[in-house]
Amino acid sequence: MQYDLIIVGGGPAGLTAAIYAGRAAIKPLVLSGRMPGGQISSTDLVENFPGFPEGVSGFDLALAIQRQAERFGAEIVQEVASKVDFSVRPIVVETQSQAYQARSVIIATGAFPRRLGIPGESEFFGRGVSTCATCDGFFFRDKVVVVIGGGDSAIDEGLFLTRFARQVIVVHRRDELRASKQLQERAFADPRMCFVWDSVAKGILGDQIVVGVRVRNLKTDETRVIETDGVFIYVGLVPATKIFRGQVDLDPLGYVITDDHQRTSVPGVFAAGDVQSPDFRQCVVAAGSGASAAIQAGRYLSEHPA
Ligand code: NAP
Repeated sequence: MQYDLIIVGGGPAGLTAAIYAGRAAIKPLVLSGRMPGGQISSTDLVENFPGFPEGVSGFDLALAIQRQAERFGAEIVQEVASKVDFSVRPIVVETQSQAYQARSVIIATGAFPRRLGIPGESEFFGRGVSTCATCDGFFFRDKVVVVIGGGDSAIDEGLFLTRFARQVIVVHRRDELRASKQLQERAFADPRMCFVWDSVAKGILGDQIVVGVRVRNLKTDETRVIETDGVFIYVGLVPATKIFRGQVDLDPLGYVITDDHQRTSVPGVFAAGDVQSPDFRQCVVAAGSGASAAIQAGRYLSEHPA
């Protein structure tokens, strides 16, 4: 199972890299992981991807990029890379069921939602605690939900939850949101959204089901319980780089370090998308860096013939 290029990750960065590789006559293998399409596929509406003046569902966008990659010859398998060895040539990329070899690799594993690490969070995960409104919002019809966080994800997903929940309570640790002004305006205008400022969640309460969140006000030090049926946590993202530790240089936060040509510390290994940049986290930026990584991988393969 030897390939010229293996792309680890099937979000916009990995799939765009696959389109560009395919069009350069490199037939890449894409290990798309458990959630093909990556984070964008669970985004309700993407309004800022060029070419879609009315917006597009994240799922449809991911599917379209995937089809485009397949059309140019990418082989996409829903496998998770579990181990890599970048010290040998060809490079080895293993999944649970296979060991693949490659002359070059693009790391495009993205990032996943950060957890708070508070009591009740793990216990109730999937049973009232979630990081995906698109996946789980439906279960909260006419219920009260708490959203934790104040960034774009929290407000975007909170607005989505107003389609189901009768009330969406946003708990944020400061008294102003980090989310874009446009999202803020929509949230403040929505009668189903309300805000608990300067507060952090200290624990998720319940027995069989979630019944509340204990929150502490950072200004007054007061603690109280907000009654709720569900808790959606959006407190940022963590790069998915566990299997690359010790294989390629990472920054102190765990992001893959690249130069401005998507090259990592290992020749023939490139990185694109959220896994190598915490700065933008936009689908279009991920797609752009995926294209750059594929172009660079093509140059590397030409300069280092098999
Ligand atoms: P983010 O922008 O990093 O925001 C994380 C939020 O969680 C911040 O409000 C932060 O508070 C809060 N937070 C962090 N740690 C916390 C903790 N331990 N306890 C309580 N609150 C905590 O993450 P994100 O919202 O997931 O967005 C990630 C990136 O994706 C951003 O670049 C965003 O622009 C992008 N994105 C864009 C869209 C869109 O364009 N529509 C949608 C979703 C995401 P502070 O504000 O106090 O730091």
